Amino acid sequence: MADVSEKKIKYLQRKLLAWYKTSGRHFPWRNKITNYQAVIAEVLLQRTKAETVAKFYVQFLKDYPNWKSLAEADIKDIEDYLKPVGLYRQRSVRLQNLAKEMVKRGGRLPKDRQDLESIPFMGQYIANAVELVVFNQPSPLVDVNMARVIERYFGPREMADIRYDPYLQGLAYRIVHHKEAKYLNWAILDFAALICIARKPKCEICTLKNRCSYYGNSSRYNIR
Ligand code: SF4
Repeated sequence: MADVSEKKIKYLQRKLLAWYKTSGRHFPWRNKITNYQAVIAEVLLQRTKAETVAKFYVQFLKDYPNWKSLAEADIKDIEDYLKPVGLYRQRSVRLQNLAKEMVKRGGRLPKDRQDLESIPFMGQYIANAVELVVFNQPSPLVDVNMARVIERYFGPREMADIRYDPYLQGLAYRIVHHKEAKYLNWAILDFAALICIARKPKCEICTLKNRCSYYGNSSRYNIR
């Protein structure tokens, strides 16, 4: 049975926050930014590598500095930006629908979760991101990368869809329930990109290896 004790969670929090201080990545959306800029970053980052988004994020904000300019933009121009991200036709329309809705709402993001999720493009991940970066609430950014770190460190999830797996979601909330929730989220995402990578995790240099389930069972998983 997986060890999901507070002790094991605290170990991960402490180790990854320390690792992040020396080895975390720097992106423009991790500086002090407006709510608009924060939401745009999260929308662009969903299912896209941060390095790819970093290539056009600053210019995108120069061209579309607020919800109104994005709502009134030519959809073809938005598509041009989103081409490197893929699915650009669907995403462009959804992004502009989000902007139109935000113009109607006077740019105000609701704190109420149901209301937040009723806004176009606000699925579970982006709603969590808004709670985290805009409202400073300890919500987890659970994507496949965070899921991979959690599953390797604690043990595998039960359901295929990470959004509905109570074990994974519960653990993610417990991990980021911390006064440095934002940094912990970023630390996990960076750690997943640089150390606990999908194909060949760098276990030998990993700060979590002494308590990692995957590493402890490495002969079974054949990862060394
Ligand atoms: S020991 Fe390996 S599998 Fe475990 S968290 Fe570190 S890199 Fe990931």
